Amino acid sequence: MPGSLPVNQNIEILENGKTVRDVIDSKIKELDSAPFFVANLDCVLKAHLRWTKNLPRVKPFYAVKCNDTPTVVSMLSALGTGFDCASKGEIQLALSLGVTPDKIIYANPTKPSYHIKYAASQGVDTMTFDNEEELLKISSFHAQAKLVLRIAVDHSKSLKKLNLKFGATLSSAGKLLERAAQLGLQVIGVSFHVGCLCTDSLTFKRAIADSRHVFDMAKSLGFKMSLLDIGGGFSGTDCFVNFDEFSEVINESLDEFFPSESGVRIIAEPGRYFVESAFTLAVNVIAKRTVMNETEDSDNTESGPDRTMEYYINDGVFGSLSSVLNFPEVKIEPYLHRVKRDLKYKSVIWGPTCDSLDKVLENYWIPELRVGDWLLMDNAGAYTLSICSDFNNLKEHSFTFQHLCMPDLSPIKHCQFVPSSLHVPNSFCFAI
Ligand code: PLP
Repeated sequence: MPGSLPVNQNIEILENGKTVRDVIDSKIKELDSAPFFVANLDCVLKAHLRWTKNLPRVKPFYAVKCNDTPTVVSMLSALGTGFDCASKGEIQLALSLGVTPDKIIYANPTKPSYHIKYAASQGVDTMTFDNEEELLKISSFHAQAKLVLRIAVDHSKSLKKLNLKFGATLSSAGKLLERAAQLGLQVIGVSFHVGCLCTDSLTFKRAIADSRHVFDMAKSLGFKMSLLDIGGGFSGTDCFVNFDEFSEVINESLDEFFPSESGVRIIAEPGRYFVESAFTLAVNVIAKRTVMNETEDSDNTESGPDRTMEYYINDGVFGSLSSVLNFPEVKIEPYLHRVKRDLKYKSVIWGPTCDSLDKVLENYWIPELRVGDWLLMDNAGAYTLSICSDFNNLKEHSFTFQHLCMPDLSPIKHCQFVPSSLHVPNSFCFAI
């Protein structure tokens, strides 16, 4: 049933002045030293409200890969979003939480045949493609699919360049459309992804103009396209380009190239935008060593320049902090929880595995830490939990659910049905 939340997801309604920090305190007591996340679902709700206000013509299909925490998926479903699923597992998750197949786009241009078969068996019809082999597979396993041609667009201003891997060039689009027609397949629209963490709003304008070009080409080949999918690429923290600026450029470009009268339905696949700021990661310092710098002037033993502090924490690049490798431009800034110490030392922070690649930060100035101290990292919701491995058999990296209070779920349930009169409690919060 869309609009309801599974009951075992540890959601607590924060009332009577209780804050997220208070929840972190109680989780620290409860969990001894295991790392954990706390999510403030208010952030997800606020992101949704901002999206609907800023981009009224664009329906978000949340990219499940970004953070597949069931509570987040359930909540966004209750708020009425659709979902971008990239695999059988993600489709299964969404369906198990009550998402209906028509609210799912299978947005992976290179799919295993058995995942396509599964999508067909569940009535998930909308899916992307960018090459001829994919068309052949789809014609064998899901001939009734509604196809969306993923095109490659300029990604030069984005931190992760997805078009290295996906997207048909504009020059190959015509041939692909002709091949789809020969195979009797339906192509209903165009999608693109400007790349993760796009830093230039005008990239969207160029990509929307490219999409118009493909729509016109498709028309001349006899296709009647009706869907434009403008992908993801938005920050969740306004850190590179303010979301308002993106929205303005996107709205203007849609009005220019796909005016409302065109009847084209517009969707997007934001991931990071919805969840990045909602999650805080808490990690524990499990070990420490002091490395003396071998300089000639090493008299100053107290104030720190002669030494580098090295800390080992119980999460790292093979756990939920792979963004250190994937997005080195995005600064991670761990800070001490509830402790004030003044003197700062140049420090290195290592993850817990035996691999020297597992380095979270270096040249980081932070007050001296003790084994057992807790560090917090904000804005930890995107591509963290969903990427964890258990390398070195580190079960901490699995972030299994811990139990919190049972909530009154009615405010979230109501979101879908009475969006104009949302009751927003002080804060929704849960820990995993
Ligand atoms: N859609 C597709 C096809 C993707 O590959 C991705 C990210 O890799 C997303 C959407 C989500 O992108 P973002 O988190 O940058 O919004």
